[in-house]
Amino acid sequence: MTADEKTSLAVFLDAAAALTGSGYRSGQGEYHFSDDAESGGEVTGSEAVDSVTAADTASDSLEKIAAAVRSCSACKLATGRKNAVPGEGVSNPLVMVIGEGPGADEDSSGRPFVGRAGQLLDRMLASINLSRESNCFIANVIKCRPPANRDPQPDETAACASFLERQIRILKPRFILCAGRIAAHTLLNTAEPIGKLRGNCIDFQAGDTVIPFLATYHPSALLRNEDLKRPAWEDLKLLRSAIEGSENHVR
Ligand code: SF4
Repeated sequence: MTADEKTSLAVFLDAAAALTGSGYRSGQGEYHFSDDAESGGEVTGSEAVDSVTAADTASDSLEKIAAAVRSCSACKLATGRKNAVPGEGVSNPLVMVIGEGPGADEDSSGRPFVGRAGQLLDRMLASINLSRESNCFIANVIKCRPPANRDPQPDETAACASFLERQIRILKPRFILCAGRIAAHTLLNTAEPIGKLRGNCIDFQAGDTVIPFLATYHPSALLRNEDLKRPAWEDLKLLRSAIEGSENHVR
């Protein structure tokens, strides 16, 4: 195994361990490997390693990540999908919206948040002058639809972690809006109820960058329970205030 291959494997293992252990972190350390004297052996799990080979390089791009997602078979969700859903939006987002994973409509179209919940999300974003066309990027923690919309399983979120990590690293969003329990639990490595996680803007450590992070209810939860709309609106107002505060700070 070469030094580059060892480094790529270490980056992948860090990403997986961070998701399942101490929270979502990237760039945890520097790696100082050397090539093996004879590198005739095959690298197992090459798809997973390939998916993060570019993660630590300046040559990574949203297009490369999307292509890797669409051809990925690193977890069992690959077998049931019609389309993987890498995400979409602007390349320099003011806000990155991160949800759970594709549903039936997203699986059919290959686009994130396009069903009823997605249409509600678009209206919620529009209410505070945000949209995927102008200033947001929308992605999910898991890129392929779980069967019958069940919750993603830990091995699936771990296998998929590097894609979202790479997206955050490239996009450098100024804010993250986390939609729903699953995404919040995955990104914050907690099992706290979403009702306790929402309502505050916190610091999210992404590599060597700290990004203001706000969790709120998933739009599909709002469709099921009208009572959640008011607190979700409060969360959106809080996000808008945080954005305006940062803009005033810059002026
Ligand atoms: S969910 Fe993620 S890790 Fe699993 S097959 Fe899809 S893209 Fe790959």
